[in-house]
Amino acid sequence: MRVLVQKFGGTSVSSAERRAQVAAKISEAVREGYSPVVVVSAIGRSGDPYATDTFINMVKGIAVESPKREMDLLMSCGEIISGVVLTSTLKDLGLDAVLLTGGQAGIITNNCFGDARIIRVEPKNILNHLEAGRIVVVAGFQGVTEDGQITTLGRGGSDTTAAALGVALDAEDIDIYTDVEGIMTADPRIVEDARILDVVTYNEICHLAHQGAKVIHPRAVEIAMQRNIPIRIKCTFSDAPGTLVTCLQPDMGVGTDITGDRTTTGIAYTPNVTQIQVPTVDIPDQLQANKQIFKGMALADISVDFISVQPEGVLFTVPDDLAEKAVKILENLGFNPSSVPGCAKVSVVGAGIAGVPGVMADLVHALSDAGVRILQSADSHTTIWVLVNKEDMILAVQALHKKFLLGT
Ligand code: ADP
Ligand code: MG
Repeated sequence: MRVLVQKFGGTSVSSAERRAQVAAKISEAVREGYSPVVVVSAIGRSGDPYATDTFINMVKGIAVESPKREMDLLMSCGEIISGVVLTSTLKDLGLDAVLLTGGQAGIITNNCFGDARIIRVEPKNILNHLEAGRIVVVAGFQGVTEDGQITTLGRGGSDTTAAALGVALDAEDIDIYTDVEGIMTADPRIVEDARILDVVTYNEICHLAHQGAKVIHPRAVEIAMQRNIPIRIKCTFSDAPGTLVTCLQPDMGVGTDITGDRTTTGIAYTPNVTQIQVPTVDIPDQLQANKQIFKGMALADISVDFISVQPEGVLFTVPDDLAEKAVKILENLGFNPSSVPGCAKVSVVGAGIAGVPGVMADLVHALSDAGVRILQSADSHTTIWVLVNKEDMILAVQALHKKFLLGT
């Protein structure tokens, strides 16, 4: 059996016309001899009647804090609705299809409601249906705990569902269908001449995705990478070949070193972060203070980013919506923090960045010429990050994209 996982995002299933295009991609896979396992997201985006955000908004404000377990029950409905509609579309075309919830598909998660981790996949049910010649449609973004509680997988969770099923079923490919023609050198919504990347490594896309390129969820890439299952990012609405995500091994048939000529792969951005500054210079026991700051954040489940610990003080960023909570905790601990809300993190990602002289010089040059002030910077062997004011974010992405000659 040649299993092919095909995942369709929210915009791909948002109208009858689009669902017909989705059905055409699935029929094509059947014609080519594949047994398709189709993962669907909820229909549409925020504001649309059955989109995940619409469900969340229905409950917002009723209680001070929405009950997490029940919110997952609510949110899991979006993918089920979408799955029923798509399965009906397929049946109407004479195709034999069945819809499974995440739980019915054997996706077992931990009990971290709202952001659950897949711990195991039991593919028996899916395999039985595939063997009976059925197309299996699976509601994405959801699973079930060992004791039967419905969970959801967090933002981008349908990508994770697709990857986990791909690995569990030893799929030939995991095809992620979306509204762009592949992974591009930057978000095409803000960079006009962004270029499609034909082939990228798991590593490169993982870094880009972690830095905000939301075309695929980084966790999905990590899962597929464990078993070397190729991922293809394709467009539902065209026949473009898309982007192949693979590893560097020559036996994959894509050449030996596909990134050898590439210093930078792309530019990504994460908006809506707050920079928090905690002066520690006047605190006698500075070592103890540093410990207290990060322990305080950890105990409150606030994940910090862009950390810089210096003799003068500690700098880090948190998502905007957690900033108030973070500042309060620090004040209660006796610190005197200040915050800069409305920042954005812009990242230059490239497997070849390490050790190449002049990359930082080019970056600073480009941003200075564009009049963008750098609030903070950091680098690793694959990424250089800068923190800028939100108003400068688009300008910064465009300037860096141009400077690193990433466009068409
Ligand atoms: P889906 O609903 O299909 O999962 P998403 O909205 O999650 O779709 O992801 C697709 C979007 O990702 C595109 O519309 C595009 O604006 C955005 N995007 C951000 N960075 C990139 C990038 N580097 N390449 C391609 N798309 C990107
Ligand atoms: Mg997505």
